[in-house]
Amino acid sequence: MKSRRNFLQKLTLSAVSLPLIPRFNSISFSGWQKSASQDTMLRVAIMGLGSYGTRVAEAMQDSKKAKLVGVISGTPSKISDWQKKYDIPPKNCYNYENFDAIKDNPDIDAVYIITPNALHHPQTLRVAAAGKHVICEKPMALNAEQGREMVEACKQAGVKLLVGYRMHFEANTLEVIRMREAGEFGEIKFFQGLSGFKIGDPSQWRLNKELAGGGAMMDIGIYSINGARYMIGKEPIWVTAQETKTDPVKFKEGVDETILFQFGFPEGIVASCLSTYSMGNLDRFFLNGTQGFAEMQPSTGYGPIKGKTHKGPLENPHITHQTVQMDRMAEIILEGDTAKVPVDGEEGLKDLIIIDTIYKAVASGRKELIDLS
Ligand code: NDP
Repeated sequence: MKSRRNFLQKLTLSAVSLPLIPRFNSISFSGWQKSASQDTMLRVAIMGLGSYGTRVAEAMQDSKKAKLVGVISGTPSKISDWQKKYDIPPKNCYNYENFDAIKDNPDIDAVYIITPNALHHPQTLRVAAAGKHVICEKPMALNAEQGREMVEACKQAGVKLLVGYRMHFEANTLEVIRMREAGEFGEIKFFQGLSGFKIGDPSQWRLNKELAGGGAMMDIGIYSINGARYMIGKEPIWVTAQETKTDPVKFKEGVDETILFQFGFPEGIVASCLSTYSMGNLDRFFLNGTQGFAEMQPSTGYGPIKGKTHKGPLENPHITHQTVQMDRMAEIILEGDTAKVPVDGEEGLKDLIIIDTIYKAVASGRKELIDLS
């Protein structure tokens, strides 16, 4: 029964707008006899059954539009545990050596890559070559060069590339963006982003330059970069940055512990941000305009996201971020919908260009221009 899926996939590639396609449950095309619920679900395989992959899998159980149907893992015991827990058939289970064969599996639409950062680039290229849509965790890659290759590979393969920016679907975040667009803060002048936590086990991949591509900036600082962009609603044009390191044994060469960075935006808007692996519970956004403000703390954690504006508290109910994200990503992939704040490969690439420029500014000690063109 791969006809409908292939048809949908082809339509996704074309310029045809799809808002109604997965909804015409009453229409019967020859060969399209599967149940409506199955037909309208994005069928996802998770690659990398670690801590965040486990969280995403749990959250997907409550998704109305995305379903966990497959796994790709280097750990056989995890595969059998997940098979039992999520009723995953053997034919939808792969390891890192054989997952290219997913191209012959009509029952998987998309692969969600939730592995260490350095693996995102090669794994995305392989998933794209297999003709499956890619959802890739942040940071999308180790640098902009890799990011560009990923965007190009997915374009060439005619598959979508989305990045796991769950905050782009979070209700209180979207409310602040709505208020800003409505002019309720007046002219935006300043953003502050504080992103950090105290990292534990020194042997973990997050502290290994080869696998992480850097340190706190790649992992948690990216939230302040991305947040500055969606809270202000403009792209930064320059950055200055300063690094401090208190523990050079734990944070080896190329693994940043703490970086302070400052952005300049058009119209004189400025931002001041902190990325760190050495301070606990640092998760705060503050947006200031001529007529008001928004402050959020926590601002990017798993929630509930809390905060207030000059008009009062932000009161949207908390829904598990990854559940909302998977619902919305299914709509983007299957129905051709778009996100209010983009989650595509180009969006991921912008953050990588900015990270490259922040590291350049740390090294040079100068103000560096950010070229997002
Ligand atoms: P974990 O270490 O918990 O899990 C990573 C998994 O990747 C492992 O369990 C393993 O799964 C697989 N893997 C494959 N190769 C390796 C390798 N060489 N070393 C270690 N693991 C390997 O990491 P997280 O789940 O916390 O993070 C994974 C990705 O998700 C990162 O890119 C991170 O930035 C991102 N992330 C995003 C979050 C968000 O809120 N959007 C939150 C947390 C993480 P297996 O045994 O199945 O092969």
